[in-house]
Amino acid sequence: MTQTEYKLYIDDVIRRVESARLKVSEHHIVKIVAVSKYSTADDIERLYHIGQRAFGENKVQDLREKAKTLEDLPLEWHFIGNLQKNKINNLLDINPALFQALDSLELAHELQKKLVAKEMTLDCLLQINSAKEESKHGLMPEVALEVYKQIQNECPNIHLKGVMSIGAHSDDEAVVRKSFETTYDIFTQLEDASICSMGMSGDFELAIECGSNMVRLGSIMFNR
Ligand SMILES: *Cc1c(COP(=O)(O)O)cnc(C)c1O
Repeated sequence: MTQTEYKLYIDDVIRRVESARLKVSEHHIVKIVAVSKYSTADDIERLYHIGQRAFGENKVQDLREKAKTLEDLPLEWHFIGNLQKNKINNLLDINPALFQALDSLELAHELQKKLVAKEMTLDCLLQINSAKEESKHGLMPEVALEVYKQIQNECPNIHLKGVMSIGAHSDDEAVVRKSFETTYDIFTQLEDASICSMGMSGDFELAIECGSNMVRLGSIMFNR
C-alpha cells in the first residue's frame, strides 16, 4: 500500500469511529489509541505521518525499544499490558502518558512505592474483567468500585482516570454488549473519571455504542 492508499484506508477507519460516536451524541468524543504491539517502528512512523499520535504497547521491553527509536517524534505512549512487579521501574523510566491495565490493589501499592521513590505520579485506568474470564486480567466487577476508591485513598501518586476492559471473547454480540455495559455502568458510578477504554479492532463500534470514549485499535490500524 502506498502512503496515499494507506491514508485513505485510515480515513475509512476514522469514519467508522465517527459514525459510531455520532450515534451516541455529537458531544461524545472518542480517542483512538493505535496498538502497535505487532508493528515495527517504521509502521508507527508511517501512521504518525497520517496524524496518529497515541500508541499502545503491551510489553514493557517493546515499549522501551520503540519509544527510544522514535524519541524525536511527539508520540503519546500508552501501556496496555499486564505489568509485572519487577518491570515497574522500567515502565516508569519511560514515563508513559497512561497505564491502562492496573489490575489489583497489590500492584497499586507496589506502584505507589516506586512512584514515591522516583517523585513521580502516573495516570492509570483500572482494568475490569467484566466478562469474568479466567484468561483475562482485571478486577471482578463486584469489587471494582471499592478497589478504585481504595486506590484513590491509599495511593496518592496514582491518578486514576477511569476504567479499561476487553470485551467478552464471544461470537454472540449480546454477550459482548453485556460485558461492555458492565464496564460502562462502573464508569458512570465513578466521580471525576473521564476515560472508559473499551473496544478493539473487532468490536469497537459496539463498544462506542455502549459508552466507550477510548478505543484501542491494533490490527485494523496497521492493516493486518
Ligand atoms: C492487542 C490489544 C488490543 C488491540 O487488539 P486488536 O484486535 O489488534 O485491535 C487492544 N487492547 C489490548 C489490551 C491488547 O492487548
